[in-house]
Amino acid sequence: MKRVIHWFRRDLRLTDNAALYAARSAAAQVIPVFCLDDHILSRPDVGAPRVWFLLESLREIEGRIAARNGRLVVLRGKPEEEIPRFAREAKVEAVFFNRDYEPYARRRDETVSARLEESGIQARCFSDLLLAEPESVLTADARPYSVFTPFFRAWISLPKQEPLPEVQDFGGPFPAAGGGVPDSFDIGFTLPSDFDPSAWKPGEDAARRRLDAFVETCAAAYDRQRDLPAVDGTSRLSPYLKFGNISIRQVYQKTAAFAKFVSELAWREFYFHVLWHWPEVEHSAWQPQKRHLQWDDDPERLEAWKKGMTGYPIVDAGMRQLLTEGWMHNRVRMVVASFLTKDLHINWQEGERHFMLRLVDGDLAPNNGGWQWAAGTGVDPRPIRIFNPWLQSRRYDPEGAYIRRWVTELSAVPPERIHEPHLMAADEQRRYGCIIGRDYPAPIVDHHVERQVAMERYRAVRQDAQPSLF
Ligand SMILES: Cc1cc2nc3c(=O)[nH]c(=O)nc-3n(C[C@H](O)[C@H](O)[C@H](O)COP(=O)(O)OP(=O)(O)OC[C@H]3O[C@@H](n4cnc5c(N)ncnc54)[C@H](O)[C@@H]3O)c2cc1C
Repeated sequence: MKRVIHWFRRDLRLTDNAALYAARSAAAQVIPVFCLDDHILSRPDVGAPRVWFLLESLREIEGRIAARNGRLVVLRGKPEEEIPRFAREAKVEAVFFNRDYEPYARRRDETVSARLEESGIQARCFSDLLLAEPESVLTADARPYSVFTPFFRAWISLPKQEPLPEVQDFGGPFPAAGGGVPDSFDIGFTLPSDFDPSAWKPGEDAARRRLDAFVETCAAAYDRQRDLPAVDGTSRLSPYLKFGNISIRQVYQKTAAFAKFVSELAWREFYFHVLWHWPEVEHSAWQPQKRHLQWDDDPERLEAWKKGMTGYPIVDAGMRQLLTEGWMHNRVRMVVASFLTKDLHINWQEGERHFMLRLVDGDLAPNNGGWQWAAGTGVDPRPIRIFNPWLQSRRYDPEGAYIRRWVTELSAVPPERIHEPHLMAADEQRRYGCIIGRDYPAPIVDHHVERQVAMERYRAVRQDAQPSLF
Protein backbone atom coordinates (compact mmCIF):
# COMPACT_ATOMS: atom_id res chain seq x y z
CA MET A 1 0.00 0.00 0.00
CA LYS A 2 1.10 3.55 -0.63
CA ARG A 3 -0.38 5.46 2.29
CA VAL A 4 -2.32 4.45 5.41
CA ILE A 5 -3.39 5.98 8.72
CA HIS A 6 -2.46 4.72 12.16
CA TRP A 7 -5.21 5.91 14.47
CA PHE A 8 -3.71 6.33 17.96
CA ARG A 9 -6.08 5.95 20.91
CA ARG A 10 -4.80 4.39 24.14
CA ASP A 11 -1.57 3.10 22.58
CA LEU A 12 0.66 6.19 22.71
CA ARG A 13 3.99 4.58 21.91
CA LEU A 14 6.13 3.66 18.92
CA THR A 15 7.61 0.44 20.31
CA ASP A 16 5.59 -2.77 20.33
CA ASN A 17 2.47 -1.17 18.94
CA ALA A 18 0.73 -3.95 17.00
CA ALA A 19 -1.38 -1.82 14.64
CA LEU A 20 1.32 0.79 14.06
CA TYR A 21 3.91 -1.88 13.32
CA ALA A 22 1.54 -3.61 10.90
CA ALA A 23 0.74 -0.28 9.23
CA ARG A 24 4.41 0.47 8.68
CA SER A 25 5.04 -3.03 7.37
CA ALA A 26 2.14 -2.68 4.92
CA ALA A 27 2.62 0.86 3.58
CA ALA A 28 5.26 3.26 2.32
CA GLN A 29 3.80 6.15 4.34
CA VAL A 30 1.96 6.08 7.67
CA ILE A 31 0.01 9.14 8.80
CA PRO A 32 -0.26 9.03 12.60
CA VAL A 33 -3.58 10.51 13.74
CA PHE A 34 -5.12 11.21 17.13
CA CYS A 35 -8.70 12.43 17.44
CA LEU A 36 -9.66 14.39 20.55
CA ASP A 37 -13.03 12.75 20.99
CA ASP A 38 -15.78 15.23 21.93
CA HIS A 39 -17.92 12.43 23.30
CA ILE A 40 -15.21 11.29 25.73
CA LEU A 41 -14.12 14.80 26.67
CA SER A 42 -17.68 15.78 27.57
CA ARG A 43 -18.31 12.79 29.83
CA PRO A 44 -18.92 13.91 33.43
CA ASP A 45 -16.37 11.41 34.75
CA VAL A 46 -13.42 12.64 32.67
CA GLY A 47 -11.13 14.63 34.93
CA ALA A 48 -8.41 17.18 34.26
CA PRO A 49 -5.50 15.12 35.72
CA ARG A 50 -6.18 12.28 33.29
CA VAL A 51 -6.61 14.68 30.36
CA TRP A 52 -3.34 16.34 31.35
CA PHE A 53 -1.54 12.96 31.30
CA LEU A 54 -3.05 12.23 27.88
CA LEU A 55 -2.03 15.58 26.37
CA GLU A 56 1.51 15.38 27.76
CA SER A 57 1.82 11.88 26.33
CA LEU A 58 0.63 13.20 22.97
CA ARG A 59 3.15 16.02 23.10
CA GLU A 60 5.93 13.54 23.73
CA ILE A 61 4.90 11.20 20.95
CA GLU A 62 4.48 14.14 18.58
CA GLY A 63 8.19 14.91 19.07
CA ARG A 64 9.20 11.29 18.64
CA ILE A 65 7.21 11.04 15.42
CA ALA A 66 8.73 14.28 14.09
CA ALA A 67 12.19 12.82 14.72
CA ARG A 68 11.19 9.77 12.66
CA ASN A 69 10.17 11.43 9.43
CA GLY A 70 6.51 11.88 10.31
CA ARG A 71 3.98 14.34 11.64
CA LEU A 72 1.21 13.70 14.15
CA VAL A 73 -2.17 14.93 12.94
CA VAL A 74 -4.48 15.95 15.80
CA LEU A 75 -8.17 16.07 14.93
CA ARG A 76 -11.01 17.21 17.16
CA GLY A 77 -14.67 16.16 17.05
CA LYS A 78 -16.58 12.91 16.64
CA PRO A 79 -14.25 10.12 15.48
CA GLU A 80 -17.15 8.53 13.54
CA GLU A 81 -17.09 11.63 11.35
CA GLU A 82 -13.52 12.89 11.62
CA ILE A 83 -11.62 9.67 10.92
CA PRO A 84 -13.52 8.71 7.72
CA ARG A 85 -13.46 12.34 6.54
CA PHE A 86 -9.73 12.71 7.02
CA ALA A 87 -9.05 9.26 5.56
CA ARG A 88 -10.88 10.26 2.39
CA GLU A 89 -9.12 13.64 2.20
CA ALA A 90 -5.70 12.09 2.72
CA LYS A 91 -6.54 9.42 0.12
CA VAL A 92 -5.36 6.53 2.27
CA GLU A 93 -6.02 2.91 1.49
CA ALA A 94 -6.50 1.73 5.07
CA VAL A 95 -6.87 2.84 8.68
CA PHE A 96 -5.02 0.73 11.27
CA PHE A 97 -5.96 0.75 14.96
CA ASN A 98 -5.77 -1.40 18.08
CA ARG A 99 -8.76 -3.15 19.61
CA ASP A 100 -10.57 -1.48 22.51
CA TYR A 101 -12.92 -3.30 24.89
CA GLU A 102 -15.04 -0.53 26.41
CA PRO A 103 -18.72 -0.43 25.40
CA TYR A 104 -18.49 3.07 23.89
CA ALA A 105 -15.27 2.27 22.01
CA ARG A 106 -16.80 -0.90 20.57
CA ARG A 107 -19.75 1.02 19.13
CA ARG A 108 -17.48 3.81 17.88
CA ASP A 109 -15.08 1.43 16.16
CA GLU A 110 -17.90 -0.47 14.48
CA THR A 111 -19.32 2.77 13.09
CA VAL A 112 -15.94 4.09 11.95
CA SER A 113 -15.11 0.75 10.30
CA ALA A 114 -18.46 0.61 8.49
CA ARG A 115 -18.08 4.18 7.23
CA LEU A 116 -14.53 3.55 6.04
CA GLU A 117 -15.59 0.41 4.19
CA GLU A 118 -18.42 2.39 2.52
CA SER A 119 -15.72 4.69 1.12
CA GLY A 120 -13.63 1.76 -0.05
CA ILE A 121 -11.06 2.22 2.74
CA GLN A 122 -9.99 -0.81 4.76
CA ALA A 123 -10.40 -0.79 8.55
CA ARG A 124 -7.72 -3.01 10.13
CA CYS A 125 -8.05 -3.80 13.85
CA PHE A 126 -5.28 -5.48 15.95
CA SER A 127 -4.96 -7.07 19.38
CA ASP A 128 -2.60 -5.02 21.50
CA LEU A 129 -3.91 -3.95 24.90
CA LEU A 130 -3.94 -7.37 26.58
CA LEU A 131 -1.77 -10.45 26.81
CA ALA A 132 -4.79 -12.66 26.08
CA GLU A 133 -7.98 -11.85 24.20
CA PRO A 134 -11.38 -12.37 25.87
CA GLU A 135 -12.23 -15.10 23.37
CA SER A 136 -9.14 -17.11 24.31
CA VAL A 137 -9.73 -17.49 28.06
CA LEU A 138 -12.95 -19.46 28.43
CA THR A 139 -14.22 -22.35 30.53
CA ALA A 140 -14.45 -25.89 29.13
CA ASP A 141 -18.00 -25.12 28.00
CA ALA A 142 -16.84 -21.91 26.29
CA ARG A 143 -18.18 -19.47 28.86
CA PRO A 144 -16.31 -16.51 30.38
CA TYR A 145 -14.84 -16.90 33.85
CA SER A 146 -16.44 -14.97 36.67
CA VAL A 147 -14.01 -16.18 39.35
CA PHE A 148 -10.41 -15.02 39.29
CA THR A 149 -8.50 -18.16 40.37
CA PRO A 150 -9.66 -20.46 37.54
CA PHE A 151 -9.37 -17.51 35.15
CA PHE A 152 -5.77 -17.07 36.23
CA ARG A 153 -4.95 -20.77 35.75
CA ALA A 154 -6.28 -20.65 32.20
CA TRP A 155 -4.70 -17.26 31.45
CA ILE A 156 -1.21 -18.07 32.71
CA SER A 157 -1.05 -21.28 30.66
CA LEU A 158 -1.49 -19.40 27.37
CA PRO A 159 1.63 -18.45 25.37
CA LYS A 160 2.52 -14.75 25.65
CA GLN A 161 3.77 -12.77 22.66
CA GLU A 162 7.17 -11.06 22.53
CA PRO A 163 7.27 -7.26 22.01
CA LEU A 164 7.59 -5.93 18.45
CA PRO A 165 10.35 -3.52 17.39
CA GLU A 166 10.00 0.26 17.39
CA VAL A 167 8.74 2.00 14.25
CA GLN A 168 11.70 4.08 13.05
CA ASP A 169 10.39 5.90 9.99
CA PHE A 170 6.90 7.08 9.06
CA GLY A 171 7.81 7.47 5.41
CA GLY A 172 7.44 11.26 5.26
CA PRO A 173 5.34 13.88 7.05
CA PHE A 174 1.85 14.48 5.72
CA PRO A 175 1.26 18.16 4.80
CA ALA A 176 -0.17 20.22 7.66
CA ALA A 177 -3.67 19.13 8.64
CA GLY A 178 -5.58 19.35 11.90
CA GLY A 179 -4.27 21.33 14.87
CA GLY A 180 -1.33 20.64 17.17
CA VAL A 181 -1.63 19.15 20.64
CA PRO A 182 -3.65 21.68 22.68
CA ASP A 183 -3.26 22.62 26.34
CA SER A 184 -5.76 21.17 28.82
CA PHE A 185 -7.17 24.64 29.31
CA ASP A 186 -7.86 25.10 25.58
CA ILE A 187 -10.15 22.09 25.60
CA GLY A 188 -11.98 23.11 28.75
CA PHE A 189 -9.99 21.39 31.50
CA THR A 190 -8.32 23.28 34.34
CA LEU A 191 -6.01 21.30 36.59
CA PRO A 192 -7.34 21.29 40.16
CA SER A 193 -5.18 23.52 42.36
CA ASP A 194 -4.47 20.63 44.75
CA PHE A 195 -3.13 18.35 41.98
CA ASP A 196 0.66 18.30 41.66
CA PRO A 197 1.65 17.24 38.14
CA SER A 198 5.32 17.01 39.12
CA ALA A 199 4.49 13.58 40.56
CA TRP A 200 4.45 12.25 36.97
CA LYS A 201 6.43 12.35 33.76
CA PRO A 202 4.09 11.14 31.01
CA GLY A 203 5.41 9.54 27.83
CA GLU A 204 7.10 6.48 26.39
CA ASP A 205 10.64 7.25 27.60
CA ALA A 206 9.50 7.84 31.15
CA ALA A 207 7.40 4.68 31.11
CA ARG A 208 10.38 2.60 30.05
CA ARG A 209 12.59 4.15 32.70
CA ARG A 210 9.98 3.46 35.35
CA LEU A 211 9.68 -0.17 34.31
CA ASP A 212 13.47 -0.58 34.35
CA ALA A 213 13.77 1.08 37.76
CA PHE A 214 11.02 -1.13 39.17
CA VAL A 215 12.64 -4.31 37.84
CA GLU A 216 16.05 -3.29 39.20
CA THR A 217 15.02 -2.08 42.62
CA CYS A 218 11.58 -3.30 43.72
CA ALA A 219 10.32 -6.28 41.75
CA ALA A 220 12.14 -8.93 43.81
CA ALA A 221 10.56 -7.62 47.02
CA TYR A 222 7.15 -6.91 45.43
CA ASP A 223 5.25 -9.70 47.18
CA ARG A 224 6.50 -8.50 50.59
CA GLN A 225 6.17 -4.76 50.02
CA ARG A 226 3.23 -4.29 47.69
CA ASP A 227 0.75 -3.88 50.54
CA LEU A 228 2.74 -1.24 52.42
CA PRO A 229 1.63 2.20 51.27
CA ALA A 230 4.55 3.97 52.98
CA VAL A 231 7.01 2.04 50.81
CA ASP A 232 7.57 2.81 47.14
CA GLY A 233 7.17 -0.90 46.49
CA THR A 234 4.84 -1.08 43.48
CA SER A 235 5.60 -0.20 39.87
CA ARG A 236 3.37 2.88 39.45
CA LEU A 237 2.99 1.80 35.85
CA SER A 238 -0.81 2.13 35.88
CA PRO A 239 -1.13 5.50 34.06
CA TYR A 240 1.42 4.36 31.48
CA LEU A 241 -0.60 1.21 30.89
CA LYS A 242 -3.78 3.25 30.75
CA PHE A 243 -2.47 5.41 27.91
CA GLY A 244 -0.24 2.76 26.37
CA ASN A 245 3.02 4.64 26.92
CA ILE A 246 4.30 1.13 27.48
CA SER A 247 2.85 -2.14 26.25
CA ILE A 248 1.68 -4.99 28.42
CA ARG A 249 4.07 -7.29 26.51
CA GLN A 250 7.05 -5.06 27.38
CA VAL A 251 6.00 -5.16 31.03
CA TYR A 252 5.44 -8.91 31.02
CA GLN A 253 8.73 -9.64 29.25
CA LYS A 254 10.69 -7.96 32.05
CA THR A 255 8.60 -9.16 34.98
CA ALA A 256 7.60 -12.72 34.06
CA ALA A 257 9.83 -14.10 36.82
CA PHE A 258 7.89 -12.26 39.55
CA ALA A 259 4.82 -14.41 40.13
CA LYS A 260 2.88 -12.07 42.42
CA PHE A 261 3.37 -9.15 40.07
CA VAL A 262 2.21 -11.24 37.11
CA SER A 263 -0.93 -12.18 39.01
CA GLU A 264 -1.71 -8.45 39.36
CA LEU A 265 -1.33 -8.04 35.61
CA ALA A 266 -3.81 -10.90 35.34
CA TRP A 267 -6.34 -8.99 37.49
CA ARG A 268 -6.12 -6.20 34.95
CA GLU A 269 -6.81 -8.65 32.13
CA PHE A 270 -9.61 -10.30 34.12
CA TYR A 271 -11.44 -7.00 34.49
CA PHE A 272 -11.07 -6.19 30.78
CA HIS A 273 -12.53 -9.59 29.95
CA VAL A 274 -15.39 -9.02 32.38
CA LEU A 275 -16.17 -5.68 30.75
CA TRP A 276 -16.08 -7.29 27.31
CA HIS A 277 -18.37 -10.18 28.22
CA TRP A 278 -20.71 -8.23 30.53
CA PRO A 279 -20.67 -4.62 29.25
CA GLU A 280 -23.64 -3.86 31.51
CA VAL A 281 -21.24 -3.69 34.51
CA GLU A 282 -20.40 -0.18 33.36
CA HIS A 283 -23.74 0.97 34.75
CA SER A 284 -24.87 -1.68 37.21
CA ALA A 285 -23.82 -4.33 39.70
CA TRP A 286 -22.65 -7.57 38.09
CA GLN A 287 -24.64 -9.57 40.69
CA PRO A 288 -28.32 -8.89 39.93
CA GLN A 289 -29.48 -9.19 43.55
CA LYS A 290 -26.96 -6.49 44.59
CA ARG A 291 -28.72 -3.99 42.35
CA HIS A 292 -31.28 -3.76 45.16
CA LEU A 293 -28.81 -2.80 47.91
CA GLN A 294 -29.95 0.15 49.98
CA TRP A 295 -27.61 3.18 49.79
CA ASP A 296 -27.65 6.47 51.66
CA ASP A 297 -27.82 9.83 49.96
CA ASP A 298 -25.48 11.80 52.22
CA PRO A 299 -23.68 14.63 50.40
CA GLU A 300 -21.98 15.85 53.57
CA ARG A 301 -20.32 12.54 54.36
CA LEU A 302 -19.47 12.00 50.70
CA GLU A 303 -17.73 15.37 50.68
CA ALA A 304 -15.80 14.53 53.87
CA TRP A 305 -14.63 11.30 52.20
CA LYS A 306 -13.59 13.10 49.01
CA LYS A 307 -11.64 15.74 50.93
CA GLY A 308 -9.94 13.30 53.30
CA MET A 309 -11.71 14.65 56.39
CA THR A 310 -13.42 11.56 57.81
CA GLY A 311 -11.42 11.32 61.03
CA TYR A 312 -10.09 7.92 59.91
CA PRO A 313 -6.40 8.69 59.25
CA ILE A 314 -5.70 5.86 56.78
CA VAL A 315 -8.78 6.79 54.74
CA ASP A 316 -7.93 10.49 54.81
CA ALA A 317 -4.31 9.84 53.85
CA GLY A 318 -5.43 7.86 50.81
CA MET A 319 -7.99 10.41 49.69
CA ARG A 320 -5.45 13.22 50.02
CA GLN A 321 -2.84 11.24 48.08
CA LEU A 322 -5.46 10.85 45.35
CA LEU A 323 -6.09 14.61 45.20
CA THR A 324 -2.39 15.52 45.15
CA GLU A 325 -0.85 12.78 43.03
CA GLY A 326 -3.82 11.59 40.99
CA TRP A 327 -2.91 8.11 42.21
CA MET A 328 -3.48 6.02 45.31
CA HIS A 329 -1.79 2.91 46.62
CA ASN A 330 -3.81 -0.25 45.87
CA ARG A 331 -4.16 -1.36 49.50
CA VAL A 332 -5.53 2.07 50.40
CA ARG A 333 -7.86 2.08 47.37
CA MET A 334 -9.42 -1.04 48.87
CA VAL A 335 -9.66 0.53 52.33
CA VAL A 336 -11.26 3.79 51.16
CA ALA A 337 -13.66 1.92 48.88
CA SER A 338 -14.76 -0.37 51.70
CA PHE A 339 -15.16 2.67 53.95
CA LEU A 340 -17.37 4.52 51.46
CA THR A 341 -19.62 1.55 50.81
CA LYS A 342 -19.68 -0.26 54.20
CA ASP A 343 -19.15 2.57 56.71
CA LEU A 344 -20.83 5.48 54.93
CA HIS A 345 -23.27 3.24 52.97
CA ILE A 346 -22.77 5.37 49.88
CA ASN A 347 -23.21 3.80 46.45
CA TRP A 348 -19.94 2.49 44.97
CA GLN A 349 -20.76 4.36 41.75
CA GLU A 350 -20.15 7.67 43.56
CA GLY A 351 -16.68 6.46 44.48
CA GLU A 352 -16.07 5.08 41.01
CA ARG A 353 -16.92 8.47 39.49
CA HIS A 354 -14.73 10.41 41.92
CA PHE A 355 -11.80 8.11 41.19
CA MET A 356 -12.27 8.60 37.45
CA LEU A 357 -12.31 12.36 37.97
CA ARG A 358 -9.10 12.45 39.99
CA LEU A 359 -6.94 9.47 38.99
CA VAL A 360 -4.32 9.82 36.27
CA ASP A 361 -4.72 6.06 35.74
CA GLY A 362 -8.55 6.14 35.77
CA ASP A 363 -9.52 3.26 33.52
CA LEU A 364 -13.07 1.91 33.21
CA ALA A 365 -12.31 -1.82 33.38
CA PRO A 366 -9.98 -1.96 36.43
CA ASN A 367 -11.73 0.93 38.18
CA ASN A 368 -15.18 -0.57 37.80
CA GLY A 369 -13.76 -3.98 38.69
CA GLY A 370 -12.01 -2.61 41.78
CA TRP A 371 -15.11 -0.79 42.97
CA GLN A 372 -17.43 -3.71 42.40
CA TRP A 373 -14.92 -5.99 44.17
CA ALA A 374 -14.79 -3.65 47.17
CA ALA A 375 -18.55 -3.17 47.26
CA GLY A 376 -19.12 -6.92 46.92
CA THR A 377 -21.37 -6.43 43.91
CA GLY A 378 -19.11 -7.79 41.19
CA VAL A 379 -17.50 -10.93 39.82
CA ASP A 380 -15.47 -13.25 42.06
CA PRO A 381 -18.36 -13.23 44.58
CA ARG A 382 -17.35 -13.80 48.19
CA PRO A 383 -18.94 -13.21 51.57
CA ILE A 384 -19.28 -9.50 52.34
CA ARG A 385 -15.82 -7.94 52.72
CA ILE A 386 -15.84 -5.39 55.52
CA PHE A 387 -12.47 -3.78 56.16
CA ASN A 388 -11.82 -2.44 59.64
CA PRO A 389 -9.96 0.79 58.80
CA TRP A 390 -8.15 0.87 62.16
CA LEU A 391 -6.88 -2.71 61.79
CA GLN A 392 -5.89 -2.15 58.17
CA SER A 393 -3.99 0.92 59.27
CA ARG A 394 -2.09 -0.91 62.03
CA ARG A 395 -1.32 -3.88 59.82
CA TYR A 396 -0.15 -2.09 56.68
CA ASP A 397 1.14 1.24 58.00
CA PRO A 398 2.35 0.19 61.47
CA GLU A 399 4.60 3.20 62.06
CA GLY A 400 2.05 5.60 60.58
CA ALA A 401 4.61 6.87 58.05
CA TYR A 402 2.09 6.94 55.20
CA ILE A 403 -0.49 8.70 57.35
CA ARG A 404 2.05 11.27 58.52
CA ARG A 405 3.07 12.04 54.92
CA TRP A 406 -0.48 12.94 53.87
CA VAL A 407 -2.26 13.96 57.06
CA THR A 408 0.21 16.55 58.26
CA GLU A 409 -2.00 17.52 61.22
CA LEU A 410 -0.91 14.20 62.71
CA SER A 411 2.79 14.57 61.94
CA ALA A 412 3.85 14.67 65.61
CA VAL A 413 1.52 11.90 66.79
CA PRO A 414 3.43 8.70 67.73
CA PRO A 415 2.73 5.30 66.09
CA GLU A 416 0.70 3.92 69.01
CA ARG A 417 -1.76 6.84 68.75
CA ILE A 418 -1.78 7.73 65.07
CA HIS A 419 -4.29 5.11 63.91
CA GLU A 420 -7.01 6.29 66.31
CA PRO A 421 -6.01 9.83 67.27
CA HIS A 422 -9.48 10.57 68.65
CA LEU A 423 -8.62 8.28 71.57
CA MET A 424 -5.84 10.63 72.71
CA ALA A 425 -6.45 12.27 76.08
CA ALA A 426 -6.62 16.08 76.13
CA ASP A 427 -3.03 16.44 77.36
CA GLU A 428 -1.77 14.09 74.64
CA GLN A 429 -3.60 16.13 72.01
CA ARG A 430 -1.87 19.27 73.29
CA ARG A 431 1.51 17.53 73.49
CA TYR A 432 1.32 16.28 69.90
CA GLY A 433 -0.10 19.53 68.53
CA CYS A 434 -3.37 18.09 67.30
CA ILE A 435 -6.64 18.99 68.98
CA ILE A 436 -9.35 16.63 67.77
CA GLY A 437 -12.33 18.53 66.43
CA ARG A 438 -10.19 21.59 65.78
CA ASP A 439 -7.02 20.48 63.95
CA TYR A 440 -8.29 17.11 62.79
CA PRO A 441 -11.88 15.77 62.76
CA ALA A 442 -13.26 13.19 65.15
CA PRO A 443 -14.46 10.06 63.26
CA ILE A 444 -17.59 11.02 61.29
CA VAL A 445 -19.08 7.57 61.95
CA ASP A 446 -18.42 4.70 64.36
CA HIS A 447 -17.07 1.72 62.44
CA HIS A 448 -18.46 -0.79 64.96
CA VAL A 449 -21.98 0.56 64.49
CA GLU A 450 -21.80 0.98 60.71
CA ARG A 451 -20.42 -2.52 60.22
CA GLN A 452 -23.66 -3.89 61.69
CA VAL A 453 -25.74 -1.67 59.43
CA ALA A 454 -23.79 -2.86 56.39
CA MET A 455 -24.25 -6.50 57.37
CA GLU A 456 -28.00 -6.04 57.68
CA ARG A 457 -28.26 -4.33 54.32
CA TYR A 458 -26.19 -6.95 52.54
CA ARG A 459 -28.10 -9.75 54.24
CA ALA A 460 -31.35 -8.17 53.12
CA VAL A 461 -30.40 -8.71 49.48
CA ARG A 462 -28.69 -12.03 50.02
CA GLN A 463 -29.99 -14.11 52.89
CA ASP A 464 -27.09 -16.56 53.04
CA ALA A 465 -24.31 -13.96 53.08
CA GLN A 466 -21.87 -14.41 55.96
CA PRO A 467 -19.65 -11.41 56.66
CA SER A 468 -15.90 -11.75 56.52
CA LEU A 469 -14.00 -9.16 58.49
CA PHE A 470 -10.50 -7.93 57.64
C1 LIG B 1 -11.44 0.76 44.17
C2 LIG B 1 -10.31 0.51 43.19
C3 LIG B 1 -10.21 1.29 42.03
C4 LIG B 1 -9.18 1.06 41.11
N1 LIG B 1 -9.10 1.84 39.98
C5 LIG B 1 -8.14 1.60 39.05
C6 LIG B 1 -8.05 2.38 37.87
O1 LIG B 1 -8.87 3.26 37.60
N2 LIG B 1 -7.03 2.12 37.00
C7 LIG B 1 -6.11 1.13 37.24
O2 LIG B 1 -5.20 0.95 36.42
N3 LIG B 1 -6.20 0.37 38.34
C8 LIG B 1 -7.16 0.58 39.26
N4 LIG B 1 -7.21 -0.19 40.40
C9 LIG B 1 -6.27 -1.31 40.56
C10 LIG B 1 -4.97 -0.98 41.31
O3 LIG B 1 -5.26 -0.30 42.49
C11 LIG B 1 -4.00 -0.14 40.48
O4 LIG B 1 -3.83 -0.72 39.20
C12 LIG B 1 -2.64 -0.06 41.14
O5 LIG B 1 -2.74 0.49 42.42
C13 LIG B 1 -1.72 0.79 40.29
O6 LIG B 1 -0.48 0.94 40.92
P1 LIG B 1 0.81 0.23 40.34
O7 LIG B 1 0.93 0.50 38.88
O8 LIG B 1 1.95 0.63 41.20
O9 LIG B 1 0.45 -1.29 40.55
P2 LIG B 1 1.38 -2.57 40.64
O10 LIG B 1 1.12 -3.21 41.95
O11 LIG B 1 2.78 -2.25 40.31
O12 LIG B 1 0.75 -3.53 39.54
C14 LIG B 1 1.18 -3.52 38.17
C15 LIG B 1 -0.01 -3.32 37.26
O13 LIG B 1 -0.94 -4.39 37.43
C16 LIG B 1 -2.26 -3.89 37.31
N5 LIG B 1 -2.96 -4.08 38.59
C17 LIG B 1 -2.41 -4.12 39.82
N6 LIG B 1 -3.35 -4.35 40.75
C18 LIG B 1 -4.52 -4.45 40.09
C19 LIG B 1 -5.86 -4.68 40.49
N7 LIG B 1 -6.20 -4.89 41.77
N8 LIG B 1 -6.82 -4.69 39.54
C20 LIG B 1 -6.51 -4.50 38.24
N9 LIG B 1 -5.26 -4.28 37.80
C21 LIG B 1 -4.28 -4.25 38.71
C22 LIG B 1 -2.15 -2.42 36.97
O14 LIG B 1 -2.17 -2.28 35.57
C23 LIG B 1 -0.78 -2.07 37.54
O15 LIG B 1 -0.20 -0.94 36.93
C24 LIG B 1 -8.24 0.02 41.34
C25 LIG B 1 -8.35 -0.74 42.51
C26 LIG B 1 -9.37 -0.50 43.42
C27 LIG B 1 -9.45 -1.34 44.66
